[in-house]
Amino acid sequence: MAGSIKQDLRESEKMPILFIGHGSPINIILDNDFTRSLAKLGKSLPKPEAIMVISAHWLTKGTFVTCTERPETIYDFYGFPEELYEIKYPCSGSPQSARLVKESVHKAKVNFDYNWGLDHASWAILKHIYPKADIPVFEMSLDYSFNDWHPKPVQYHYGLASELAGLREKGILIIGSGNIVHNLGLIDFHDIDAKTYDWAVKIDEKIKSNLISRNHKELINYPDMGKEAYLAAPTLDHYLPMIYSIALQGRNEPLTFIYEGFQNASISMRSFQIG
Ligand code: ZN
Repeated sequence: MAGSIKQDLRESEKMPILFIGHGSPINIILDNDFTRSLAKLGKSLPKPEAIMVISAHWLTKGTFVTCTERPETIYDFYGFPEELYEIKYPCSGSPQSARLVKESVHKAKVNFDYNWGLDHASWAILKHIYPKADIPVFEMSLDYSFNDWHPKPVQYHYGLASELAGLREKGILIIGSGNIVHNLGLIDFHDIDAKTYDWAVKIDEKIKSNLISRNHKELINYPDMGKEAYLAAPTLDHYLPMIYSIALQGRNEPLTFIYEGFQNASISMRSFQIG
């Protein structure tokens, strides 16, 4: 039956790749430069058959894709205004596309999940990009398993992600959703416009220049970018979705920034489009 899945999804123009820095869930209800840039983005993109979000908030042992017809909106955040917990993102899922992912990836076993819905790495941004929720969405998890206290190397994720390239021609829009500078220990929870740390600006600029020059090697070996790299990504969960996005960049494919800026002192909202 494997062949029939591929035939069912019509060949389409090659979808771009996105990386979105999602930041605080409060952005769901804010009208600011960042959320307006997402709304503008949605109007400029071709309409995909389905969207796959690689989520910083779905960490699993092994790699999973959601395979449900009606993914639930997950409120995986605490202490925010009541109205956030009443918003729904009522899109459908795309089990057919999830099966296509499993077929495409050979470097890892991709497992189907029937319980996870859409966490805020997906719906907080899609609410602005595609407010009608009329495109099927599914998620891919990050394999966060440890071996002798060591997580899977960044290079492993880069290799896995490169196998997703063919999905772009099947009308699937792939979005990495995390933050390239994300330090919760040093965050200013109360002030979204708090003054950004100097180290955060410095490392964000380094990452920017590596993105522009397509220096994926340095982005993979991120400690090579200096001591600020550890402050930017004290854990890898929010950094890795960016690695999935760049792994899909063709050799001569342009990368353009959708948004540049910081929130809460230690979170870079830098977002980009490839293709
Ligand atoms: Zn997050």
